[in-house]
Amino acid sequence: MLTLVFHSSGTDLLAEQRAEPDVAGYDVLIRVEACGVCRTDLHVRAGELPDINYPIVPGHQVVGRVVAAGTHSEIAIGERVGVTWLGWTCGQCDYCRSGRENLCDAARFHGYQLDGGYAEYMRADARYCFPLDPALPAATTAPLLCAGLIGFRSLRMAGDARRIGIYGFGSAAHIVTQVATHEQREIYAFTRPDDTEACEFALATGATWAGGSDQPAPCALDAALIFAPDGALIPKALKDVRKGGVIICGGIHMSDIPSFPYADLWGERQIRSVANLTRQDGHDFMALAAEGFLHPCVTTYPLADANAALSDLENGTLNGTAVLIVD
Ligand SMILES: [Zn+2]
Ligand SMILES: [Zn+2]
Repeated sequence: MLTLVFHSSGTDLLAEQRAEPDVAGYDVLIRVEACGVCRTDLHVRAGELPDINYPIVPGHQVVGRVVAAGTHSEIAIGERVGVTWLGWTCGQCDYCRSGRENLCDAARFHGYQLDGGYAEYMRADARYCFPLDPALPAATTAPLLCAGLIGFRSLRMAGDARRIGIYGFGSAAHIVTQVATHEQREIYAFTRPDDTEACEFALATGATWAGGSDQPAPCALDAALIFAPDGALIPKALKDVRKGGVIICGGIHMSDIPSFPYADLWGERQIRSVANLTRQDGHDFMALAAEGFLHPCVTTYPLADANAALSDLENGTLNGTAVLIVD
């Protein structure tokens, strides 16, 4: 099978032919149909995360079909599944036993410690796969499995906030905007300064307002979701949210946060991160997605062109989500 592999930090993907993985126990072998490209994959490429299990096949937004299953798998051969970032948790620790398996210290993640979906086949633990309707289109379903889910978890942390700023209008942002507007909330989108194309994309997706991150918010916001990996956006967002507002950081990696006056945090403003997802998030979000109002914008690439997809994401030259298609 064709696989694309990061062998060390700072290097491009290399194409390799490998044998298909064996399956046993709870494993399933999945024939990949589509795999979304996530900013986290860029952080894996750059070695910006701890404990990357090189050589690693990235990819954690996978739509595929089960072609082999271990004896303990409750998913049968032929079923359509989605694979997310969460690959395995211990099930024993305080976090796992209190509905917070996303924080498990022993958790393992696809495309980071476990080989992911930049391949014709991948192995996954059936207990962490999500059943998908066979009729769903692969390319536009893949982005729901990380970008959609992390956006959804971030939006839930914003509580009942009505006016929400989004900083960095890419893959997660354009899906969470569709969820938020469906819930009658208003989105204020902040893009890279002078990125008129991204502003137009945000407005077309349903944002109430769009502008550069060098501009002040046009009104006081109730919450801010930060998806761009730029720590300087946190003090910026603190100035945009009103008293009691919350800043939610959705990315796995961010540059250092510049210092800021305590007065900007004063007034019970909060800053918090979103880490990973739980399986419950997956079930909740996929049930919402089944209502059919989400329409991710995708740019597709053949699997073999994954390096081009990563550089287009890095350079901000694509709207929505890059998705690799496996023939
Ligand atoms: Zn991701
Ligand atoms: Zn655990």
